[in-house]
Parts: sequence; structure tokens; C-alpha cells
Amino acid sequence: MAHQKRMLFLRVQCYIFASNFGNTQMEKIKNIIFDYGNVIFAIDFLRTQNALSQLGIPNVNEFFAHKGHNQIFDDFETGSISPAQFRDGIRKVADKLELTDEQIDDAWNSLLIGVSGNNHDVLLEVKQKYRTFLLSNNNKIHYDWIIAYLQKDFGFNNYDDFFERAYFSQDTTMRKPNPAIFEMVLKENNLNPEETVFIDDSPQHIEGAKKAGLNTLLMDVHPEKLRDFLVHHKLL
Ligand SMILES: [Mg+2]
Repeated sequence: MAHQKRMLFLRVQCYIFASNFGNTQMEKIKNIIFDYGNVIFAIDFLRTQNALSQLGIPNVNEFFAHKGHNQIFDDFETGSISPAQFRDGIRKVADKLELTDEQIDDAWNSLLIGVSGNNHDVLLEVKQKYRTFLLSNNNKIHYDWIIAYLQKDFGFNNYDDFFERAYFSQDTTMRKPNPAIFEMVLKENNLNPEETVFIDDSPQHIEGAKKAGLNTLLMDVHPEKLRDFLVHHKLL
């Protein structure tokens, strides 16, 4: 009896695990929405934490972190404030009005490492099988850096070749995890959420996507393992 109960418990557990994102669902997937930072492109929050600290920002762990941060970053990511207003905000918090634009931009951009491995090729491969989209919480200063980097290192001007459409939060007035930003992507592209999977390395963004009815995968490996991750989840 105890054995039967244990078997039943295991079966229920397996079912719950599989139903979260089982093979059956994977076969229905026609569209993939990718996050950018630490899914395709490597970023390191600690670098910017250290750089901001060196500029004079106190309590940098509370001011800027992966899971939660000062309102100024949310405002910058939703395009509610301009780069000039963002820099002034940093000067104010650091209590150093003499900081130059370049000093602030260098500190802010120091988290940007680059596209991992052969992820551009991986994206082209994925695009042969699925309708693909990018949905990135971003901001004007990082965006400009990334576009200059793509031009310099890869010779292209945007992500048009890699995605059907690329969304950057600062152009939408919203940011993840607001379910409305996911609903906007679904609606504008006529996507069925049941046929769509969203991949992000931030658990809070995954929660927002679930509220919009999307299938989700939490990226829990380094972005240089993106292809392996997609193969492991039977998307490639
Ligand atoms: Mg990310």
C-alpha cells in the first residue's frame, strides 16, 4: 500500500513536471520570443555595480541589481526619461555634478560584454523553423552601444535579419514583466500564445509572460549554450 502510494505520488510529480512544458506542448510551438541580455548577448551586472560604485553611488547593491533596482532604471527602460535626464539622475545620487556624460555612459555600458559564441548563426537556424521575435528591456544608451558594436564587429545595422521583429522596451513605454508588453507583441503579430514560447533568464519576466498566457522557458545556462538549451528543450 505504502509502495502504491509512493508510486502514485511519483506519477503525479512527473505529470506536474512534464505539464509545465512537456513534449506535447513543444510540438505546438510555432513562435519563439527571445530575451536579449544573458540569452543571446552576455551581460554582467556586477561590472556596472562596481563602476557605479566607483563613480560615488552609495549602497550600490540596493541602487542597481538584477532583480530590483531604483526607479530611475525603470523610467529609462520605458523611455519615460531621456539619456540626459538619466545622467543627471546618476549625478544627483552620486552627489557629483561634475561627472561627464562619457564617465556615466562608460560605467553604465560596462555590463555589456557581447554576443556569445555563434548565437547569430543559432538565431538564423531557429528562424528557419519558427517565427522569431526579440523582446528586450533596454534603454537608449545601451541600444546605441549595441548598434555600434553590431556594425563594428559584425557589419550589420540592426536585427532585421535575425528576427521577424525586434522590440526594445524604451520604444514601447512598457517593460517586462508587465503582461501588457507581452500582450502587445502577441497582438501586433497575430500570435497564438499557446503556440508561442518566451525564453528569458529573469524569473520575474517569466512570471509576467505566464500571466499573458505564454509558454515559458527560464534560461538557466550561459548564453554561449543557447543552442544546447534549445536542443535540450526539443526546439531544435
Ligand atoms: Mg535577460
